[in-house]
Amino acid sequence: MIIVPENKIGDLMTRADSFAAVEKVFASMAKGSAYNFPVIREAIGHADALYGFKSGFDRSELVLGLKSGGFWPGNMEKGLTNHQSTVFLFDADTGKCKAVVGGNLLTALRTAAASAVSIKYLAPKGAKVLGMIGAGHQSAFQMRAAAEQRDFEKVIGWNVDPAMLSRLEETAAEIGLPFEAVDLDRLGAEADTIITITSSFDAILMDAQVTGGTHIACMGTDTKGKQEVDAALVGRATVFTDEVAQSISIGEAQHAVANGVLKEADIAQIGAVINGDHPGRTSDDELTLFDGTGVGLQDLAVADAVVKRAVEAGVAVEVDF
Ligand code: NAD
Repeated sequence: MIIVPENKIGDLMTRADSFAAVEKVFASMAKGSAYNFPVIREAIGHADALYGFKSGFDRSELVLGLKSGGFWPGNMEKGLTNHQSTVFLFDADTGKCKAVVGGNLLTALRTAAASAVSIKYLAPKGAKVLGMIGAGHQSAFQMRAAAEQRDFEKVIGWNVDPAMLSRLEETAAEIGLPFEAVDLDRLGAEADTIITITSSFDAILMDAQVTGGTHIACMGTDTKGKQEVDAALVGRATVFTDEVAQSISIGEAQHAVANGVLKEADIAQIGAVINGDHPGRTSDDELTLFDGTGVGLQDLAVADAVVKRAVEAGVAVEVDF
């Protein structure tokens, strides 16, 4: 069995490899050759922790496994990240455990890769202004990955707590783009590509605020009750997702479907666009929306890629198991 510890992931995994792994597995999901198992998520009644696992099987790549982990709110005081996760990969022929891989950095990389895939296929070709809503841990990963998909000329951003906007400003500077903090009216009017990555339980961006041809990647809503954008905005958009079942239950589309402004049948898998089975964006002034709910197969795909990298680089720790 191979172990790739959390502290080795940063040296091994690139944004390009994460993007390629996520793009490929989204395509396999839409072809039906990869599927996710039902998600388990429980409050365990200890340490205020939410624990669960996401799992699946990619038959085309023979990648089988699960990501186990969750949220421990007291970790920060212990010098640890609140979100903790580990990926386990199993031999699809025998069921033997093949690898244990640190999942924290991989989660950020695979989530950023998902919105970047959506931008590649759905954002207006000539997109120039990237709008960021949210300035937490994931936001920097999101911005770096998005910036590789279009020739953006500037980044504009909003956060409920303006003190956190320095993260967006610093990340934009690292990429070499100017940054401006704006209100939501300006963000919705000026950005042609928008990423929402917050922990909000109420709509932040309203329908009337978004004008012109725009692509919105809603990445924060991954739980029942969370919400980042107005249900009417989702209802007006051409909606894509990683997995429809998650989109309507724990994703951004849950509210639009519950309100009756969007039908489940009108939500397309992003993989269908990748495979050429859905046209994706059909005009420059269309509003497209990607509901990135986060699926276990994304975690397995990047973990499998990192194991291959670790073996190639000769840094994989092998143990008899
Ligand atoms: P974080 O705690 O570092 O940052 C949270 C962000 O949300 C901050 O910008 C904060 O100001 C903002 N926020 C919090 N409450 C808000 C409210 N009521 N209204 C508006 N903004 C609010 O978290 P993070 O690690 O950056 O993750 C952000 C979100 O992304 C989380 O909700 C997390 O569950 C989700 N997430 C989704 C996926 C996926 O695959 N879709 C993967 C990882 C994380």
